[in-house]
Amino acid sequence: MTESKTIKNDEMNPNFKYEMSKIPGAERIMLCYQCGTCTADCPISRFSDFYKPRRIARMVQFGLKDRLLSDDHLWLCSTCYACVDHCPQNVEPASIVRALRNMVVKERNKMPLVSRELATSLLKSGYIYAMPESRLKRRVEQGLPPLPKTNVKEIERIFKVTGFTSLLENAKTFEKVAK
Ligand code: SF4
Ligand code: SF4
Repeated sequence: MTESKTIKNDEMNPNFKYEMSKIPGAERIMLCYQCGTCTADCPISRFSDFYKPRRIARMVQFGLKDRLLSDDHLWLCSTCYACVDHCPQNVEPASIVRALRNMVVKERNKMPLVSRELATSLLKSGYIYAMPESRLKRRVEQGLPPLPKTNVKEIERIFKVTGFTSLLENAKTFEKVAK
C-alpha cells in the first residue's frame, strides 16, 4: 500500500467496513486490533516497504476504499495464508485481500495480465498452467501416472453462470505490480 501522510475526512467511507463484513472470509474485519502478527509472518511484507496486511486491515476499518482499490500492491499477496493461520482474532487478512481484488475486477474493470492468462488457461485446458507436450512425455518416461482428466465444459459453465466470462473478456489488464 502506498504510504500516505494524511487521511482526509472525505476519503473515509464509514459504510465500507460493514460492506466488507458481509463478504465471506472478511466477516471479522472489525475484530482486528492491529497486533501486527500477520505482517510479521507475511513473506511479501519482508520484501515490500508498502505491502502490509495489518495496514490493509486498518485501511478497511477506516473506509479508505478508493485508496485500497487504486493501489496495485494489492496484487502482491501470494495467498500463502500464513496471516490466516496466525491471526489471534481469526480475521483472515488473505480473504480480505481476495475480497478487495474481486472489487477491483468487478468495479474497476481491471486485472493483472497474469491473472487473465491463468484464467484463460483454466478455461481452455482445465489447468491453471497448461502442461507442455514435452513435460507430458517426460512424465510417461518416468513412469508417472497420467494427469487427472478435467471437465472443461463444466468450467466454462461455472465461468458463465458466475459472470466471470464477461469480466475476463472486458477487463483491462496491467502488467507490472509495484514492489
Ligand atoms: S494478526 Fe489479525 S488482529 Fe493482528 S493485525 Fe493482523 S489481522 Fe489484525
Ligand atoms: S496470504 Fe498474502 S497477506 Fe497473508 S501472509 Fe501470505 S502473502 Fe501475506
